[in-house]
Amino acid sequence: MSGDLFAASQRLKDISNHSKPLASNDIPDSAIKDAVRKAENFEHDFEDDIYISAKQSRLLSSVLARMTRLQRTVGYGNFNLIDLDTARRYARHYTRIGAFTRHEITLIEALFEFDASNYGFFGRKVSTTLTEAIKRKDVKKISGSGHYLYQGDALELYKKLRKQLGDDLILTSGIRSVVKQLHLFIAKVEKTGGNLSRAARSLAPPGHSFHGIGDFDIGQRGLGAANFTNSFAQTEIYKQLTDLGYISMRYPVANPYGVRHEPWHIKVATNV
Ligand SMILES: [Zn+2]
Repeated sequence: MSGDLFAASQRLKDISNHSKPLASNDIPDSAIKDAVRKAENFEHDFEDDIYISAKQSRLLSSVLARMTRLQRTVGYGNFNLIDLDTARRYARHYTRIGAFTRHEITLIEALFEFDASNYGFFGRKVSTTLTEAIKRKDVKKISGSGHYLYQGDALELYKKLRKQLGDDLILTSGIRSVVKQLHLFIAKVEKTGGNLSRAARSLAPPGHSFHGIGDFDIGQRGLGAANFTNSFAQTEIYKQLTDLGYISMRYPVANPYGVRHEPWHIKVATNV
């Protein structure tokens, strides 16, 4: 594993050469086939997985803890929408969060800029700047969920689903800012012992989440965290959802993004 750590460390230092996302037709079929095979075993480590370095791993833990304190301070709902500049202002202002250090910001930038296809994630980069901000006037808070949806297609689709399937259908994740996705991704990377490839098999890296541009997750009321597992595919809501015939899933079985099957993730943004 130390070889991988070293390789990843070299690559992460090299971010300026890897900042341009690949067009999907640039990715060789063999790489996609390999990613599909690995996504079926998304919780496993593979020999050629890419890891962050031990040093970066320590820094990652301190970023994660700081962002968790930030989330607690601004509130779960607000944290879904927060942009990096606002996050940094909050962190500086509240001693219980504490300002992000220069090294922490460098790591955040490296994670954002690094070409995710290097570690087996082939989805498009939909947010191109790290400091991208979401306008409050473009979103609607969904009561009782702590989540937001974009006005327009996403909100209309959600309303239609609620009308057809009833209150047992719940919103489990809506809009996620780059900061929110960063927090989720860093938590996942820490959980996998620094394995970027394994983290990206079940969570889009920051900047690559379609939650940033309209997609959302739904669940069955009462199922809790299991809504984000294969158990969701066994629920009545999922069955009714697929029976509707007009719902598209972003990450079906054997999808070309290198991401596990996610029966709960509804595709809304269609231009990507
Ligand atoms: Zn999702």
